[in-house]
Amino acid sequence: MTNAFCSTRGAEHAANAPRAVLEGLAPDGGLYILKDVPDLPPQQMLADDFFAVARRVLTAYLPGYSSEEIAQCVQRAYQNRFDVPGVAPLRAVGDNYVLELFHGPTAAFKDVALSVLPQLMRCAMRKTGWQEDMLILTATSGDTGSAALTGFCDVEGIRVLVFYPQHGISPIQRAQMTAMRGDNIDVCAVEGNFDAAQSGVKRIFSQMPPAFCRQNGFTLSSANSINFGRLAPQIVYYYTSYLQLVRMGRIAMGERADFCVPTGNFGDILAGYLARESGLPVGRLICASNANRVLTDFFETGVYNRNREFLTTLSPSMDILISSNLERLLYRTLGNDASAVRALMEQLRTTGQYRMPDEAMEKIRSVFRAGCADDAQTMRAIKEVFAATGYVMDPHTAVAWKVAQEHRSDAPMVILSTASPYKFAGSVLNALGESVPQDTLEQLTALESISGTRAPDVLREALQRRVRFRDVIAPEDMMAYVQGKAART
Ligand SMILES: *Cc1c(COP(=O)(O)O)cnc(C)c1O
Repeated sequence: MTNAFCSTRGAEHAANAPRAVLEGLAPDGGLYILKDVPDLPPQQMLADDFFAVARRVLTAYLPGYSSEEIAQCVQRAYQNRFDVPGVAPLRAVGDNYVLELFHGPTAAFKDVALSVLPQLMRCAMRKTGWQEDMLILTATSGDTGSAALTGFCDVEGIRVLVFYPQHGISPIQRAQMTAMRGDNIDVCAVEGNFDAAQSGVKRIFSQMPPAFCRQNGFTLSSANSINFGRLAPQIVYYYTSYLQLVRMGRIAMGERADFCVPTGNFGDILAGYLARESGLPVGRLICASNANRVLTDFFETGVYNRNREFLTTLSPSMDILISSNLERLLYRTLGNDASAVRALMEQLRTTGQYRMPDEAMEKIRSVFRAGCADDAQTMRAIKEVFAATGYVMDPHTAVAWKVAQEHRSDAPMVILSTASPYKFAGSVLNALGESVPQDTLEQLTALESISGTRAPDVLREALQRRVRFRDVIAPEDMMAYVQGKAART
């Protein structure tokens, strides 16, 4: 097998796709990226359904897996796990198109990728003759944890341990995690906020004694969106939504569509950039941020500066100051110059900021636009779109809607919708000017009667299931906790 991937920080770290999926991060701290961009014109996909497009895209983007292996991963990931046949339906709402990515088992878009990643990992372990168990460690601010637990649930040879902050996640998110079934999973609350949980996990990755892992037969890994196996499945729905626009007659094959993406770690929108590189007629990619507008400022000024206050907003999955996947865009627009990327990332680490060269910024601005919405603007968008169209958006989608309105062109605008409004029912009811019941189940019922839609069964079930995981620990006890769970008995 040839090594089709290299690290954004150095060509010497080459890997094939199964290796890149198992390792996650490259050994030099960089991100894996394909050396050559696969050519994937949409012209030959017009008759394909979601599954067929997924097979084509993943086979092209993950060389080292056979097309039969990919087909099996896709089948296992999506068959009967999403509540609509097409996985990611596109709806016309007002003058825009909303791409609903929240029909999976936890009602948020991370399901689309985290349904496939465990299958890719399992397959990679088989192919490479991997002897040890994988132990996936994740700190979550909400959506990633439940999507990872669901995706990895009962996958052989892989165990998952999710840490969530005791304070700062919603009752639905907590219920989804603490009531999760599966023999290979553990969930634990950490005293403090998300930073405490996240720093604790980073510490475990850097300080876990290798001898302990060897003796107990496991390798640590992460389900974070730096893993290329999580990125590749997100390319698929740029294709399927484009093809839907063509089939509806909204555009002719080859004409452009614009995409507006509610952005946090820059994974979702980067997948759109990769689709464009592969020949999908993507016009402009619009990067939508909430009040944490690091990326908006970056696209405007060319300076990435994380030295600012971290704000808590109504769209918590976008509350982020370091968008890791931006590194892959830097690598591409700096002409695959790993040493230039390394220098910028070193500046970010030591000073909290860096400046992109003007020439590279020009390349970036020829594709990307950016904008942001604060909480008041987000709430107004939810209210106005509901009043005008009857469509209810969650706060993340609403951020993108507001920013999309500022960047309309002649091309159709696809807005990526990343969470079910029911997952944030309290905020949505509030935005609509309705009273918000104390009880979360009652919030779902209230939103149903106002919107005339149905809450996803998975959310109601999670709220009604018995709580299974009750551990709460201090951040300094996380290492001991992991070792206790991982020790061979
Ligand atoms: C993770 C997430 C995002 C941000 O996606 P990135 O790939 O991190 O940019 C947006 N909305 C929701 C609901 C999410 O869960």
